[in-house]
Amino acid sequence: MHENNPVVRAASQWRVRPNALPAIRRRCRASCPSTEFRTHGKFRVNANHKLLDIWLLAQCADCGDTVKLTVLERTHVRSIDPDALEAFHGNSVAHAARLLTDPRVAQRNGITLDWADAWSVDMEPAELPKADILDVSVHFTHRIPLRTTTVIATGLGLTRGEVIRHIEAGRLTSEQKLSGRAARDFSFVLRWE
Ligand SMILES: [Zn+2]
Repeated sequence: MHENNPVVRAASQWRVRPNALPAIRRRCRASCPSTEFRTHGKFRVNANHKLLDIWLLAQCADCGDTVKLTVLERTHVRSIDPDALEAFHGNSVAHAARLLTDPRVAQRNGITLDWADAWSVDMEPAELPKADILDVSVHFTHRIPLRTTTVIATGLGLTRGEVIRHIEAGRLTSEQKLSGRAARDFSFVLRWE
């Protein structure tokens, strides 16, 4: 490195967002070995006077059997946000993604969600700046639990192993914990020198 070259420091802002609906982990019938269901954001709304039952439909990836995941039970139509009601009737995929990030929906239906292939990172600026020191802040638009090192690797275009080596070498540092899964905003500093 040339002594006269000033250290270049730059910032990058990342937004982690869903770009598809997650896989749903759930056992199928006794005669079907599958544990994976897919949803395409189709809802079923059943009205009984002013009370609504709303389900999100999902299909077994193997046999195609449909299951109904409970979203709302016997809920008065007036207590449902009009935008949400329209989203249920319009089979809104974005609304389904938002619902599935609510841990209560997963708990109530005894399912777990796999977001592995259902998210992406938007960056501002769109390209990673060339800098000796890079300050990155990561914002989650939805509560998608992801491995922190996977998010970093995806954004930097590295493998997870490379990210872990940068952390171990002290080149990649953060005030937050970088191990495990989180759906929380975090930031880190990468020093290339
Ligand atoms: Zn099945």
